[in-house]
Amino acid sequence: MDGTRHAGAVLDIDLDALAENWRRLAARADGAVCAGVVKANGYGLDAGRVAPALAAAGCRNFFVATLDEAISLRAVLAEAEIHVLNGLPPGSASEFRAHGLIPVLNQLGEIDSWGAHARSARAERAPGTRRAVLHVDTGMNRLGLPAAEVERLAEDPGRLAGIEVALVMSHLACAEEPEHDMNARQLARFERLRALLPAAPASLANSSGIFLGRGYHFDMVRPGAALYGINPTPGVPNPMAEVVRLRANILQVRDIAEGESVGYGAAHRAAGPGRIATVPVGYADGYLRALSQRGFGMVAGVRVPIVGRVSMDLVTLDVSRLPAEQARPGTPVDLVGGGLDIDEVAELAGTIGYELLVRLGRRFRRVYRGGESPR
Ligand SMILES: *Cc1c(COP(=O)(O)O)cnc(C)c1O
Repeated sequence: MDGTRHAGAVLDIDLDALAENWRRLAARADGAVCAGVVKANGYGLDAGRVAPALAAAGCRNFFVATLDEAISLRAVLAEAEIHVLNGLPPGSASEFRAHGLIPVLNQLGEIDSWGAHARSARAERAPGTRRAVLHVDTGMNRLGLPAAEVERLAEDPGRLAGIEVALVMSHLACAEEPEHDMNARQLARFERLRALLPAAPASLANSSGIFLGRGYHFDMVRPGAALYGINPTPGVPNPMAEVVRLRANILQVRDIAEGESVGYGAAHRAAGPGRIATVPVGYADGYLRALSQRGFGMVAGVRVPIVGRVSMDLVTLDVSRLPAEQARPGTPVDLVGGGLDIDEVAELAGTIGYELLVRLGRRFRRVYRGGESPR
C-alpha cells in the first residue's frame, strides 16, 4: 500500500546523480577499486534502489553495517560482493555462507569463529565462502583489531588458517580535515600493521579519505556520504552532484499583524505586518526540530526563513518579502537541495549532513529519477 500518495511533500532522489557521483569518486581513486557503502538502508534513501543503481554504474563491492542489511541487499544484488562492517555475530557463520556474504572480522574471537568455519568441510566444498576482511584499528578505537592483537595474530598465524583474506582495512577518524595530524598517523599505523598480516589488498579511505590523495587510496576506497551528495571536502566547494531534494507545496498562507505570534510557544513574534506560509513537513518526517527559527525554504528562487518552531507535521515560513502571487497555496517550496545544500541545512540544525540524510522520513512521497527502472 502506498501511504504517501497524498503526502504533500516529495523526497526526490536522483539515481543518475548518484551513479555520476560513484563515477567521479572512482575516477578520483585513480586505479583503486571504488566500493559503495550502503549501510543504514543506503543512508536512508533505500538500499533496494540505491545499490542496483550503483551496480549498474559499475560498482561491484558493497559495505553494510549489519548481517540483516546484508541479507536484504543480497535479495536485490545477486552478484555483488557484500561486506558486513559490524562483524560476525556469534553463531552466524552459516548465514554468511548461505548468502555468500563477507564478514569484516573486528576481533580475535571473530577470527577464531570464522577460521573454524573456514576449515570445516562445508566451507571447503564451497569456494568463495572462506573469504573475510580483517579490520585493523589505527586510532579510531571503536572497531577493529588493536595493534597488540594484530601482533599476537602475526605470532600465531595458524589462527588464520583456512581464511581467505580478501582485504585488510582500517577507517579514518578525521579525513574531512586534511590538515589533521591523525591522517598521517593512521596512514603510518596502517602500513605497519598490514605488513604483519598475510599479503592482501588494502583499504583505508572513506569519502573524504579519497580526497587526501593517492597515498590513501590503496586497492579499494569505500565512499558512502559523497555518493549521496554530501560534501566530502568541507570548506571547499562540493565536488559532488546533488542527489536529494526535499520539496513540498504551501498548504495555507495568512496575513499576520505586528505583535502576533506564530506556532507553539509563540516563539516567533512579528515585528511588523507580514505573511506566513505553512508547509506540510515536520520533525516526524526527519526535518529536525532544531531548525526552528533557523532553517530556510526556497520559494520562487528566494530564500525565506523558517519562523516559529518546527512542529510534528508542519513548518511555517515568513514569505512577507515575496509578492503575494509568488507564495500561494500550492506553490512549491524546497527545504533541502534546490539551492539549500544538505550540509548547510544540517549545520543550521547543529548536526552533519549524514544525520539529516538518514533521518529523512518514510512519510514523504519518494520519487526516484533515472537509474534502473522501478522494481
Ligand atoms: C560508514 C563507513 C564508510 C563510509 O564513510 P563515508 O564518510 O560515509 O564515506 C567507510 N568505511 C567504514 C568502516 C564505515 O563505517
